[in-house]
Amino acid sequence: MNSSKATVPVALGLGANLGDPAATFATARRLLVAGGLQQERLAAIIRTAPVDCVPGTPDFCNSALVGDWPGTARELLVLCQDIERQCGRPARHSQRESRLLDLDILLFGELCIAEPDLVVPHPRLRARYFALAPLAELAGSWRIPPDLISVADALAALPAT
Ligand code: ADP
Ligand code: MG
Repeated sequence: MNSSKATVPVALGLGANLGDPAATFATARRLLVAGGLQQERLAAIIRTAPVDCVPGTPDFCNSALVGDWPGTARELLVLCQDIERQCGRPARHSQRESRLLDLDILLFGELCIAEPDLVVPHPRLRARYFALAPLAELAGSWRIPPDLISVADALAALPAT
Protein backbone atom coordinates (compact mmCIF):
# COMPACT_ATOMS: atom_id res chain seq x y z
CA MET A 1 0.00 0.00 0.00
CA ASN A 2 1.22 3.49 -0.83
CA SER A 3 0.72 5.77 2.18
CA SER A 4 2.63 8.76 0.72
CA LYS A 5 0.07 10.01 -1.83
CA ALA A 6 1.46 12.53 -4.32
CA THR A 7 0.55 16.11 -3.47
CA VAL A 8 0.21 19.29 -5.51
CA PRO A 9 1.26 22.73 -4.21
CA VAL A 10 -1.86 24.90 -4.01
CA ALA A 11 -2.55 28.54 -3.20
CA LEU A 12 -5.84 29.74 -1.73
CA GLY A 13 -7.19 33.25 -1.28
CA LEU A 14 -9.17 34.14 1.83
CA GLY A 15 -11.47 37.14 2.13
CA ALA A 16 -14.00 38.43 4.66
CA ASN A 17 -15.66 41.71 5.52
CA LEU A 18 -18.07 40.56 8.22
CA GLY A 19 -17.46 38.96 11.61
CA ASP A 20 -13.93 38.43 12.93
CA PRO A 21 -11.81 37.70 9.84
CA ALA A 22 -8.69 36.63 11.78
CA ALA A 23 -10.70 34.06 13.76
CA THR A 24 -12.55 32.91 10.63
CA PHE A 25 -9.31 32.49 8.67
CA ALA A 26 -7.85 30.44 11.57
CA THR A 27 -10.96 28.22 11.52
CA ALA A 28 -10.70 27.84 7.74
CA ARG A 29 -7.05 26.84 8.10
CA ARG A 30 -7.93 24.22 10.71
CA LEU A 31 -10.71 22.81 8.53
CA LEU A 32 -8.44 22.72 5.47
CA VAL A 33 -5.89 20.70 7.44
CA ALA A 34 -8.67 18.41 8.71
CA GLY A 35 -9.68 17.98 5.05
CA GLY A 36 -6.18 16.87 4.04
CA LEU A 37 -4.12 20.01 3.33
CA GLN A 38 -0.49 19.60 4.42
CA GLN A 39 2.44 21.94 5.13
CA GLU A 40 0.09 24.92 5.18
CA ARG A 41 1.26 28.49 5.68
CA LEU A 42 -1.01 31.52 6.14
CA ALA A 43 0.00 35.06 5.14
CA ALA A 44 -0.56 38.21 7.19
CA ILE A 45 -3.98 39.80 6.78
CA ILE A 46 -4.29 42.96 4.70
CA ARG A 47 -7.25 45.34 4.79
CA THR A 48 -8.57 47.07 1.68
CA ALA A 49 -11.48 49.31 0.77
CA PRO A 50 -14.32 47.54 -1.09
CA VAL A 51 -14.37 47.75 -4.90
CA ASP A 52 -17.62 47.71 -6.94
CA CYS A 53 -19.76 47.29 -3.80
CA VAL A 54 -22.81 49.14 -2.53
CA PRO A 55 -22.08 52.26 -0.41
CA GLY A 56 -21.49 51.42 3.24
CA THR A 57 -19.90 48.02 2.52
CA PRO A 58 -17.31 47.30 5.27
CA ASP A 59 -13.61 47.08 4.39
CA PHE A 60 -12.36 43.67 3.26
CA CYS A 61 -9.69 41.63 5.00
CA ASN A 62 -7.70 39.30 2.78
CA SER A 63 -5.00 36.73 3.23
CA ALA A 64 -3.51 33.79 1.34
CA LEU A 65 -2.68 30.26 2.30
CA VAL A 66 -0.35 27.83 0.55
CA GLY A 67 0.01 24.12 1.17
CA ASP A 68 0.27 20.68 -0.39
CA TRP A 69 -2.97 19.05 -1.47
CA PRO A 70 -3.30 15.27 -1.89
CA GLY A 71 -6.39 15.26 -4.15
CA THR A 72 -7.86 16.86 -7.26
CA ALA A 73 -8.68 20.53 -7.81
CA ARG A 74 -12.38 19.71 -7.77
CA GLU A 75 -12.06 17.94 -4.42
CA LEU A 76 -10.34 21.07 -3.10
CA LEU A 77 -13.14 23.29 -4.49
CA VAL A 78 -15.77 21.13 -2.79
CA LEU A 79 -13.85 21.39 0.51
CA CYS A 80 -13.49 25.19 0.15
CA GLN A 81 -17.23 25.59 -0.49
CA ASP A 82 -18.03 23.33 2.45
CA ILE A 83 -15.76 25.43 4.70
CA GLU A 84 -17.41 28.65 3.44
CA ARG A 85 -20.76 27.22 4.54
CA GLN A 86 -19.39 26.02 7.89
CA CYS A 87 -18.07 29.55 8.45
CA GLY A 88 -21.55 30.95 7.86
CA ARG A 89 -21.63 31.94 4.21
CA PRO A 90 -24.99 31.17 2.60
CA ALA A 91 -24.72 28.57 -0.17
CA ARG A 92 -26.48 30.98 -2.56
CA HIS A 93 -24.90 34.40 -2.67
CA SER A 94 -24.00 37.14 -5.08
CA GLN A 95 -20.40 38.01 -5.86
CA ARG A 96 -20.51 41.57 -4.55
CA GLU A 97 -22.23 40.74 -1.27
CA SER A 98 -20.55 41.20 2.13
CA ARG A 99 -19.33 37.85 3.36
CA LEU A 100 -18.06 35.98 6.41
CA LEU A 101 -15.67 33.97 4.27
CA ASP A 102 -14.66 33.74 0.63
CA LEU A 103 -12.24 30.89 -0.01
CA ASP A 104 -10.93 30.69 -3.57
CA ILE A 105 -8.43 28.47 -5.33
CA LEU A 106 -5.82 30.86 -6.73
CA LEU A 107 -3.29 28.37 -8.09
CA PHE A 108 -3.15 24.59 -8.42
CA GLY A 109 0.48 23.81 -9.20
CA GLU A 110 1.04 25.15 -12.69
CA LEU A 111 -2.21 23.65 -13.99
CA CYS A 112 -4.77 25.58 -16.04
CA ILE A 113 -8.42 24.55 -15.58
CA ALA A 114 -11.33 26.07 -17.53
CA GLU A 115 -14.59 24.48 -16.42
CA PRO A 116 -17.86 26.37 -15.97
CA ASP A 117 -17.58 26.40 -12.17
CA LEU A 118 -13.82 26.06 -11.73
CA VAL A 119 -11.31 28.35 -13.36
CA VAL A 120 -7.65 28.11 -12.32
CA PRO A 121 -5.57 30.22 -12.05
CA HIS A 122 -8.34 32.28 -10.45
CA PRO A 123 -9.47 34.60 -13.29
CA ARG A 124 -9.02 37.78 -11.27
CA LEU A 125 -5.79 36.83 -9.47
CA ARG A 126 -3.54 38.87 -11.72
CA ALA A 127 -5.70 42.00 -11.46
CA ARG A 128 -6.19 41.97 -7.69
CA TYR A 129 -3.71 43.55 -5.31
CA PHE A 130 -5.51 41.98 -2.37
CA ALA A 131 -4.95 38.49 -3.81
CA LEU A 132 -1.39 38.95 -5.10
CA ALA A 133 0.10 40.86 -2.15
CA PRO A 134 -0.57 38.19 0.55
CA LEU A 135 0.42 35.43 -1.88
CA ALA A 136 3.69 37.21 -2.71
CA GLU A 137 4.57 37.12 0.99
CA LEU A 138 4.44 33.31 0.89
CA ALA A 139 5.33 32.36 -2.67
CA GLY A 140 6.69 35.28 -4.72
CA SER A 141 8.54 32.98 -7.11
CA TRP A 142 5.51 30.77 -7.92
CA ARG A 143 4.86 30.93 -11.66
CA ILE A 144 1.33 31.73 -12.83
CA PRO A 145 0.32 29.78 -15.95
CA PRO A 146 -0.09 29.97 -18.87
CA ASP A 147 2.72 32.50 -19.37
CA LEU A 148 4.49 31.61 -16.10
CA ILE A 149 4.99 35.17 -14.84
CA SER A 150 5.98 35.04 -11.18
CA VAL A 151 3.60 36.16 -8.44
CA ALA A 152 6.10 38.88 -7.45
CA ASP A 153 6.33 40.17 -11.03
CA ALA A 154 2.53 40.11 -11.43
CA LEU A 155 2.23 42.17 -8.23
CA ALA A 156 4.87 44.63 -9.44
CA ALA A 157 3.06 44.94 -12.79
CA LEU A 158 -0.23 46.09 -11.21
CA PRO A 159 -1.11 49.69 -12.04
CA ALA A 160 -0.54 52.05 -9.10
CA THR A 161 -3.82 53.00 -7.41
P1 ADP B 1 -15.76 35.60 -5.91
O1 ADP B 1 -14.86 34.60 -5.26
O2 ADP B 1 -15.33 35.97 -7.31
O3 ADP B 1 -16.01 36.80 -5.07
P2 ADP B 1 -17.86 33.71 -5.37
O4 ADP B 1 -17.09 33.28 -4.16
O5 ADP B 1 -19.27 34.11 -5.19
O6 ADP B 1 -17.16 34.90 -6.10
O7 ADP B 1 -17.70 32.54 -6.42
C1 ADP B 1 -18.73 32.10 -7.24
C2 ADP B 1 -18.36 30.81 -8.01
O8 ADP B 1 -17.02 30.85 -8.48
C3 ADP B 1 -18.41 29.52 -7.24
O9 ADP B 1 -19.66 28.94 -7.36
C4 ADP B 1 -17.34 28.64 -7.91
O10 ADP B 1 -17.87 27.50 -8.53
C5 ADP B 1 -16.74 29.55 -8.93
N1 ADP B 1 -15.30 29.40 -9.13
C6 ADP B 1 -14.69 29.36 -10.34
N2 ADP B 1 -13.38 29.25 -10.22
C7 ADP B 1 -13.11 29.22 -8.89
C8 ADP B 1 -11.90 29.13 -8.14
N3 ADP B 1 -10.72 29.08 -8.74
N4 ADP B 1 -12.00 29.14 -6.78
C9 ADP B 1 -13.21 29.24 -6.18
N5 ADP B 1 -14.39 29.34 -6.83
C10 ADP B 1 -14.34 29.33 -8.18
MG1 MG C 1 -15.12 32.86 -4.10
